[in-house]
Amino acid sequence: MDADIADIAGICDLAERHGAMTYLDEVHAVGMYGPSGGGVAERDGVLHRIDLIEGTLAKGFGCHGGYIAGDAELIDWLRSTASGFIFTTSLPPTTVGAALASVRHVRANAERRATLFERAERLKQKLDAAGLPRIASVSHIVPVHVGEATLCRDVSRRLLDEFSIYATPINYPTVPVGHERLRLTPTPLHTDAMMDALVVALRAVLPRGLAIAA
Ligand SMILES: *Cc1c(COP(=O)(O)O)cnc(C)c1O
Repeated sequence: MDADIADIAGICDLAERHGAMTYLDEVHAVGMYGPSGGGVAERDGVLHRIDLIEGTLAKGFGCHGGYIAGDAELIDWLRSTASGFIFTTSLPPTTVGAALASVRHVRANAERRATLFERAERLKQKLDAAGLPRIASVSHIVPVHVGEATLCRDVSRRLLDEFSIYATPINYPTVPVGHERLRLTPTPLHTDAMMDALVVALRAVLPRGLAIAA
């Protein structure tokens, strides 16, 4: 929710020192990070150091379902022992077909990823230039501080009703009380004009002088 990214290499070092396994949830990153969209571990060159990686076929891939990736032996063991896997109906072939097409498309289209990060940077610049209370982030997710649950919900509702802009309200218990925020997620297809309209809308619905809580 802070749009931060873990020090994966540092955590791998720690795990190695103590003989621990590593499990990485890349759900927010697959499709978007790394040269072929493999996730942050691919971007950071540490894929080979992670024992199990979890990803989703929803979100970045726009389909449904998910996966874990690891050494064949470990996956084989999970296939034989993981009750959540054994007792769940497998995905329908249509869904798997769509996911496969999406994975192939996303892998092959690195320029979409480059555009996504260029667009996220542009949005951050525009919010900063307008003096809006953006929470600093190192990812494509751009949180904007609101700081109060009712206000956060109302602001999100007004953005949708009055400006046709969907910005997710994030309230307690997802974030601590006082850290309520809007969570903006630009896409490669958001234009400068759309971002300018967002800035105008945010200025209209956010109270003046909103400061980021320490
Ligand atoms: C959404 C999400 C999941 C679950 O993914 P689904 O494909 O929706 O089941 C797992 N981990 C994180 C961090 C998520 O945000």
